[in-house]
Amino acid sequence: MDQFLQVSSLSRAYRSGDVETQALDAVSFEVAAGEFVALMGPSGCGKSTLLNILGFLDPPDAGSYRLRGEEVATLSDARLTRLRRGHVGFVFQNFNLIDELNVAENVEVALLYRSGDARRRRIDAVLEQVGLAHRARHRPRQLSGGQQQRVAIARALAPEPDLILADEPTGNLDTANGAAVMELLKGSAAAGTTVIMVTHSALHAAATDRTIRMLDGRIVGETRL
Ligand code: ADP
Repeated sequence: MDQFLQVSSLSRAYRSGDVETQALDAVSFEVAAGEFVALMGPSGCGKSTLLNILGFLDPPDAGSYRLRGEEVATLSDARLTRLRRGHVGFVFQNFNLIDELNVAENVEVALLYRSGDARRRRIDAVLEQVGLAHRARHRPRQLSGGQQQRVAIARALAPEPDLILADEPTGNLDTANGAAVMELLKGSAAAGTTVIMVTHSALHAAATDRTIRMLDGRIVGETRL
């Protein structure tokens, strides 16, 4: 597998008044293209801070983040915006769907940069992929939590990203729906999309290629399947 993502000595501190919290403390790891990685650790250990940096939502204070060999810190704002839009898909614990839009329109939000015909074909294809083609005109609140998360995954996958960042995507789901979401993420990774998923579930972590364990802003362990 190709090296896809490399972070080295990544650090990030938050300051409020006199108090400084070292959310990330010299974190280094590499992820290959198409790898499915679980990120585990207690609340406050820096998982969300790390995902935000990996998704270009927040810059690190120090350290290097290379994507396909390119140092992210040196990329222009325009380039970062394009990467965020087309190359990274986000999935959240609370789905983050727009209630005023139906299912197809929620997916369309991620595809506004494609022309009409191509956009429509992609919406149909990705809703088919997550098994929700028959719910395209429903509003999110008319769906179960598991279905809503599948819509969120369809939205994340729609632009054919090469990186999916998922923050406890099964955290609000029952066992069966959590398993369905895991199958979709595993399928995406098998198709070549790199997936990095924060999880508190040992069961779901065990279904990934590799688990990285964090504590107090540092990596403290790693398990490979
Ligand atoms: P996790 O996702 O593992 O729960 P976070 O990355 O959210 O951890 O937080 C890591 C640490 O940084 C925590 O101690 C948290 O309180 C602190 N932190 C996170 N975001 C902020 C912020 N915006 N301002 C101040 N401190 C923050």
